Amino acid sequence: MKKIAVIGCGISGLSSALLLAKDGNEVTIVAKDLTPNTTSNKAAAFWSPYYANGDRVTRWSRESFLEYEKLCSVPASGISMTELRRYHKKGTPESEDWTEAVPNKKFRSLTKEELPQDYDEGFSLEVPLIETQIFLPYLINELKIAGGKILQREVNHVEELFPEYQLIINCSGMGARTLVNDEAMIPVKGQIVFVDLHLKIPIILDEHAPTYIVQRKDGCIVGGTREENVFTETVEEETLQNIIDRAAVFFPEIKSAKRITEWAGLRPYRNEVRVEREQNIIHNYGHGGSGFTLAWGCANEVLKLVK
Ligand SMILES: Cc1cc2nc3c(=O)[nH]c(=O)nc-3n(C[C@H](O)[C@H](O)[C@H](O)COP(=O)(O)OP(=O)(O)OC[C@H]3O[C@@H](n4cnc5c(N)ncnc54)[C@H](O)[C@@H]3O)c2cc1C
Repeated sequence: MKKIAVIGCGISGLSSALLLAKDGNEVTIVAKDLTPNTTSNKAAAFWSPYYANGDRVTRWSRESFLEYEKLCSVPASGISMTELRRYHKKGTPESEDWTEAVPNKKFRSLTKEELPQDYDEGFSLEVPLIETQIFLPYLINELKIAGGKILQREVNHVEELFPEYQLIINCSGMGARTLVNDEAMIPVKGQIVFVDLHLKIPIILDEHAPTYIVQRKDGCIVGGTREENVFTETVEEETLQNIIDRAAVFFPEIKSAKRITEWAGLRPYRNEVRVEREQNIIHNYGHGGSGFTLAWGCANEVLKLVK
């Protein structure tokens, strides 16, 4: 049994902490912000590799997919397998090859009749939909059941947690830019409108725009933007209006729907997702637009590195 501190209480910290606690370690999360104030609370959050780099991304995405599939049988987790419809226009390449990451390559091309106007190609597949408002509190509860603790505190230097803890897991997301001086960390801002709609629809994704529509139990997420190197989490009304206009092409009712709220978050992007051990520090950050998509694959890797 090791005494381990996990810096960060987003999806990367919680998934790593949970696996380590279940493996019999004494685990404490130390985090500046807790749910509902982390970037993870701002995610859409459906399974789809996006803005994440590295040779292991495909494997981690697949491992996470399979883990979420299992979690679907636990109603309290808020995970469900939901149809995703990806639409694509010629000449607008998608950022990642997601097809390799889908277990058993279980997806199909959409027929011409199924494609919205102006789209040349599309796919339908079942993916995990992670309702963050349910899943993150669920993980916190699971962690406590497994004996884990959570401490709200800012860490200025990773080393300050030694010698109280034998091992430190750095899951600080964008915080890694200052915490470990990693200038490869670049924010990719995303803006979202959350509307009071309850439709029976699949998740809609045009990755290029990007436009996405995600029906949750508590409302409908309408996104989005990808604004590289923007450090502010402010929303702009003109941008939000543009998001609504793009999404209304798919479902016109979005235009007149009552707005519940809006938000912006910074995807913690890096040229390569960093999961590696440096003496007694294990890094797990830089997941970009894929923190949920990669979480369990990365947490498994952290567990291996601890062992
Ligand atoms: C608009 C938007 C939509 C998205 N949609 C999706 C999606 O559909 N699917 C998907 O897979 N991903 C999506 N993402 C990406 C996903 O949200 C991120 O990849 C993920 O949240 C990163 O999780 P994390 O735990 O690494 O970081 P975070 O959630 O940012 O957590 C970092 C934690 O570290 C703590 N911390 C940082 N610095 C310090 C410090 N010095 N001391 C103590 N604590 C510290 C923070 O307080 C926080 O608790 C989206 C992101 C955005 C912004």
